[in-house]
Amino acid sequence: MTVQPNSMEARDKAYHMHSYTNARALERDGALVMERGEGIYVYDNNGKKYIEGMSGLWSVAVGFGENRLVEAATRQMSKLPYYHTFTSRANGPSIELAEKLVQMAPVPMSKAFFTNSGSEANDTAIKMIWYRSNAMGKPEKKKIISRIKGYHGVTAVSASLTGLPNNHRSFDLPLPGIFHTSCPHYRAFKLEGESEAAFVERCAKELEDLILREGPETVAAFIGEPVMGAGGVIVPPAGYWPAIQAILKKYDILFIADEVICGFGRTGNMFGTQTFDLQPDFMTLSKQISSSYQPISALLINENVYAPIADESAKIGTFGHGVTAAGHPVAAAVALENIAIIEERDLVGNVRALAPKFQSRLKELEGHPLAIEARGIGLIGALELAPREGFATGQLGPKLFSIMVEKGLISRAIGDSLALCPPLIINESQLDVLFDTFEASLDVLKKQLDA
Ligand code: PMP
Repeated sequence: MTVQPNSMEARDKAYHMHSYTNARALERDGALVMERGEGIYVYDNNGKKYIEGMSGLWSVAVGFGENRLVEAATRQMSKLPYYHTFTSRANGPSIELAEKLVQMAPVPMSKAFFTNSGSEANDTAIKMIWYRSNAMGKPEKKKIISRIKGYHGVTAVSASLTGLPNNHRSFDLPLPGIFHTSCPHYRAFKLEGESEAAFVERCAKELEDLILREGPETVAAFIGEPVMGAGGVIVPPAGYWPAIQAILKKYDILFIADEVICGFGRTGNMFGTQTFDLQPDFMTLSKQISSSYQPISALLINENVYAPIADESAKIGTFGHGVTAAGHPVAAAVALENIAIIEERDLVGNVRALAPKFQSRLKELEGHPLAIEARGIGLIGALELAPREGFATGQLGPKLFSIMVEKGLISRAIGDSLALCPPLIINESQLDVLFDTFEASLDVLKKQLDA
């Protein structure tokens, strides 16, 4: 891309350090600047149209340009643009949203607690767990287990939970007391000749061995995404979650389901917790809760978690945690309207109706000479490219990503896996265009590599 002086790209390079970006590459190449969006499409500042095959960052469930969300925000902005939820204060939308979320929860939940990002929600979950263990006179019960390739955010605690090298390397993370157990990606981590059932058994045994090594009385909680997203879209094998949950029960370990991607319909049920029959004590929610039109996240906690924390707050005088914009009335109003749209338009039904086509077209791509594995569930999936001589791991994915962008499809390269997570409003013919473009891009890459 040639960057014109004084263009948006030039000003961006001059003044803006980006999240998750190679800063020197940005200085050289400039950013892709988006200007507007409509439905499943976004348009850059040169007017080029793209299918947003990732819903932004796994978030824009109802699509771009949804006017009902604009109106909900405007109404609330005019009425009460801000009020906080500290020191026994509240505002209408935060109350309504807390009630709605607790009522929607697929397992018994007692309270909702608001934050602004997935990272903060998970950070808060861990702080609640530490506080609760102290409240219960078990100060040694503080260790947390997460998984290799799990993604839970980037704040100091959440980044420690995340099981990816880029979030630890050069940051001196993970923090002590946070451990990572095996990743349930069968194809990548199975032993020679190991059946899926034997693999699941080994994952469960590795978790149990870690708990026993550390001492069960010191392990407080386990966190996991029902389907791993940013780690490469990893759908665990059948039997995995029952085996893991049995061990958590056996050693009295709390379970945090990180529903930040799966929540609000992505896997074909309102929550991943239903798809995989989970019994979490915490659910962390964000992204599709507001289709990311406003930053907001929530934790749902059950009574077993809430009661000791509430008692301790009475003893100390406060639960000393919370952020300025927690339960922000505009964000909460937008989330309520967004959830109403998901329910009224039965977008979960749309996911169920389109999932067979989405998954079968993805599976067909597994037959492409460049591919090694297709995986997914509902309207989330990834195609992994096969290793190739002369290319380091993680080199081919970005090449394919660039070809797709050129052809007007935004996916996401996670190493050599290309992820897809389109808005839940997508229709059948749009899905066909998406996969036709994916396939054509694979052919272009193959030609380039063969030349
Ligand atoms: N959990 C999961 C499962 C996520 O996918 C993400 C974001 N990709 C987060 C937590 C962190 O959310 P945020 O970026 O809003 O902090």
